[in-house]
Amino acid sequence: MTSPRSLADVVQYGLCLGCGLCESIGGRDLPMALNEQGFLRPSIPDDLDPAIEAAVLKACPGLIQRGPGARHGDVLWGPHEGTFLGHARDESLRHVASSGGVATAAASFLLEEGLADVVLHVSADEEKPVRSRARISRTREEVVGGVGARYGPAAPLQLLHSILNRGERIVVVAKPCDIAAVRNLARTDDRVDRLLIATITFLCAGLPSHGVSRNIIGKYSLAESDVQLLRYRGHGCPGPTRIETRHGTVFEQTYQETWSNELNQGIQFRCKICPDSTGEQADLVCSDAWDGAEGYPIGDGSGMNAIIVRTPKGRMLLDGMIAAGVVAAEPMPASKLMTMQPHHARRKTQIIPRLVGLALAGQPVPSYRNLRLFRAAVLGAAYALSNVRGMMKRVRRGNNREHIPAARIVQPASGNRRGRHQAREPV
Ligand SMILES: Cc1cc2nc3c(=O)[nH]c(=O)nc-3n(C[C@H](O)[C@H](O)[C@H](O)COP(=O)(O)OP(=O)(O)OC[C@H]3O[C@@H](n4cnc5c(N)ncnc54)[C@H](O)[C@@H]3O)c2cc1C
Ligand code: SF4
Repeated sequence: MTSPRSLADVVQYGLCLGCGLCESIGGRDLPMALNEQGFLRPSIPDDLDPAIEAAVLKACPGLIQRGPGARHGDVLWGPHEGTFLGHARDESLRHVASSGGVATAAASFLLEEGLADVVLHVSADEEKPVRSRARISRTREEVVGGVGARYGPAAPLQLLHSILNRGERIVVVAKPCDIAAVRNLARTDDRVDRLLIATITFLCAGLPSHGVSRNIIGKYSLAESDVQLLRYRGHGCPGPTRIETRHGTVFEQTYQETWSNELNQGIQFRCKICPDSTGEQADLVCSDAWDGAEGYPIGDGSGMNAIIVRTPKGRMLLDGMIAAGVVAAEPMPASKLMTMQPHHARRKTQIIPRLVGLALAGQPVPSYRNLRLFRAAVLGAAYALSNVRGMMKRVRRGNNREHIPAARIVQPASGNRRGRHQAREPV
């Protein structure tokens, strides 16, 4: 099996997952921009400083993912200190949140208790509300401003180094692969372990392209510039997908329609070989808790989270929130995860066969360790061959190939390499 040798390889072979760590490390030498496929990717100049490229490649989760342990933990669901069913006690937060609001409640709790200075997370882009962006929040109100799932590219780690450079204590709320990037960085930057107060994630079925959001608004004959709000779900659980235009018109469709017709159509290739969609490297995992419908919503109701406590830190956080009356949570058998989120268990069993298919098709393969993937593959042996073949077909169709976003040369700021490039986004 070969590994990608450069940042350009990571992007062009479909291994980048759009975390934004490139830009955080490389600054304006490596700005994130939408590529032709509608994903945020680093815009790589021809004369990228090799030292910057080497630093990025050491931490890039598209290239390397190291789990918490090969031996301990459930083969499919990973190590945990307990599983719970719960929700934020603040009913207004619970209502607007994606599921039960525990992710937002936990991040806000750490700020309000003075245990953290900032929360690094994601929200709608105020200027272009169909898009999403990384956000640093310092108050509960700001954290609540980023509530809800954003089913599109966001690059949350773009701003990580700006926080590390200021020496602020951080809570990161992001996708499992973004958390993997933070953990990778911790191996080369000792500020991460010193300043990282907690990592909070969710189960992730995969990240849709920006084109998916454009298709949603396109159904109502809207351009991006017409839209002042695009909310995928929330305001009930799952709540409707809602579009508000700048001219005061409102369109709504059910989340079920959004998921079946749109969201699952444009998932990035890297998610098909994701070794950890359940956030094994985070402290706390907050997911949906729909039981008995293969992980799909059952009607609309009050939001609930299935919570996986991964670490002693995560346990202290949940206990602290329960004691402070911020979250209500009851223990839940871990076996419930299997009925609530069966597709995540199945996905884990498919990764090794898919990597084999990728390698047989002559493509570079990322390096995964300590995620029990071989043991999981044994459980999925019955459909291993079809996954190998399926991946080879995907490669033949070019499904894993992506473009690097174009970089526009701008006037260099004198003596400052970081003034050189500015990303150009497709319109
Ligand atoms: C792409 C995607 C796929 C998902 N797949 C699943 C799944 O398969 N199963 C499941 O149970 N849940 C999934 N979710 C998560 C689910 O929608 C809820 O976010 C989760 O249950 C937590 O609920 P909550 O009410 O506690 O979160 P909230 O309190 O609403 O907080 C959500 C937090 O997630 C952050 N966030 C939102 N979108 C993104 C993004 N694109 N990248 C990084 N951070 C983001 C926000 O900044 C916010 O802090 C997915 C979410 C996304 C964005
Ligand atoms: S996965 Fe993250 S660090 Fe790696 S190339 Fe993509 S944006 Fe950069």
